[in-house]
Amino acid sequence: MSENFYDIVAARFPANPDAPFLELASGAVLSYADLAATSARYAHLLSELGVVKGDRVAVQVEKSAEAVFLYLACLRVGAAYLPLNTAYTRAEVAYFLTDAAPRVFVCAPAAAEGLRDTASEAGVGAVLTLGAAGEGSLTDGAAGKPTDFDTVVCASGDLAAILYTSGTTGRSKGAMLTHRNLASNAATLHRLWGFQPDDVLLHMLPIFHTHGLFVAINCVLMNGSSMLFQSKFDPDAVFRLLPRATVMMGVPTFYTRLLADDRLTGAATAHMRLFISGSAPLLADTHREFFERTGKPILERYGMTETGMLTSNPLSGERIPGTVGFPLPEVSVRVADEKTGAPITAPGAIGVIEVKGPNVFIGYWRMPEKTAQEFRADGYFITGDVGKIDERGYVHIIGRAKDLVISGGFNVYPKEVETVIDAIEGVVESAVIGVPHPDFGEAVVAVVLRKPGADALDEAAVARACKEQLANFKVPKAVVFTNELPRNTMGKVQKNLLRDAHKDHFDKRAA
Ligand code: AMP
Repeated sequence: MSENFYDIVAARFPANPDAPFLELASGAVLSYADLAATSARYAHLLSELGVVKGDRVAVQVEKSAEAVFLYLACLRVGAAYLPLNTAYTRAEVAYFLTDAAPRVFVCAPAAAEGLRDTASEAGVGAVLTLGAAGEGSLTDGAAGKPTDFDTVVCASGDLAAILYTSGTTGRSKGAMLTHRNLASNAATLHRLWGFQPDDVLLHMLPIFHTHGLFVAINCVLMNGSSMLFQSKFDPDAVFRLLPRATVMMGVPTFYTRLLADDRLTGAATAHMRLFISGSAPLLADTHREFFERTGKPILERYGMTETGMLTSNPLSGERIPGTVGFPLPEVSVRVADEKTGAPITAPGAIGVIEVKGPNVFIGYWRMPEKTAQEFRADGYFITGDVGKIDERGYVHIIGRAKDLVISGGFNVYPKEVETVIDAIEGVVESAVIGVPHPDFGEAVVAVVLRKPGADALDEAAVARACKEQLANFKVPKAVVFTNELPRNTMGKVQKNLLRDAHKDHFDKRAA
């Protein structure tokens, strides 16, 4: 029997093919029959372009119904779906295409002209376009193709997707996820979060990231139910749609923005069964305030690109603010000594969080050494998050060993930004940190040491250089100049001191 994730969910699609799958912002409704037919057409087109099992299909497009069908088409041909953040610049895309060597690259029509050369230099076989309204050569080329497609048989260990994470060394790593990884997480979350046939999920997350793509969409596919599919988070749309939704998945920023809105009340959320938060720490205060205003305790869960979801607060049972809940069934989570890897069993003891289970990826694309470094000899993956497990079994995340900054739900690895800033004429060195920000959760701040006589180099010039080379969410929201970076005896910059020194930067501005 095929263990292709598409076959697994297709076996659970509603008996009535006209049952809704997506309701778009325009009000248009696409059914499960549309899903099956359109993904089949795209699968035929991909096959004709030479895509075979194991190939990669890279995709950098705006969120749309067609983009979801493209993801499913990739699964159906046995290819690895490789979504890219729409904010990535041409230089960044060039790296991904060269590294992943996809057979096909699908991009926005407006970007195609600029990216065609990049793709051909990277050896990509074909470039297709797909716009936010579904227009482009993907849909044109697929029109008229058969609406049936024999989904390619896959084993559970076959590659289903590659999701790039930012690298601490500045190089992004492609996390290889299998059909088993997707299936195990989807089945577990579907069960654990009590999905019902009449659930309606309010979807406002990007779909190039594990949260919006796998957690949200795969749960709905497992459930055979429908989504209110919005291109992005927008409070007006939230308040319009909450009376028709039952489940919402969001990053903490969604919840802080809703709290800032007078329309957030118990009545406005009365129809909602479940609010879920993840991808970045949800402040305990946000959890409490949301509960006070609505009577709904947000369910916080924790996961990452490489592992899918790892822990979740309970559906029934106490959801404890500031914790990420219990390890998922079949997922072993432990805390270990970061250097030696020795497991720490004492409740409440702090260490690096490590994980093993069917949800854990099989390695970084073409980086066997990096992969080996991130796994312990007994198969546990080292998440790089620092945390503890309390006496009741709840997991707490304390910080990030790797100094990752999460701004508005997006990951920024300081090293990548520092590399760009350090290359600017007049810069001696920089240290990039994340500091609390009322809207983004964390904001990227660059602390920069200038060369003598380079005083003319100002904040705008640093920001400009960053904008040329980095996606917007990585560009520092503030640049602070300093005469000296604090260092420890080993010569390492002490980022904790910098974070402390600048922790009020955005609050002060607001005051
Ligand atoms: P990503 O690979 O983009 O999903 O980012 C994964 C990282 O996000 C994790 O390693 C954590 O550092 C962080 N993260 C995800 N969920 C949570 C959460 N609920 N609380 C704190 N950090 C989280």
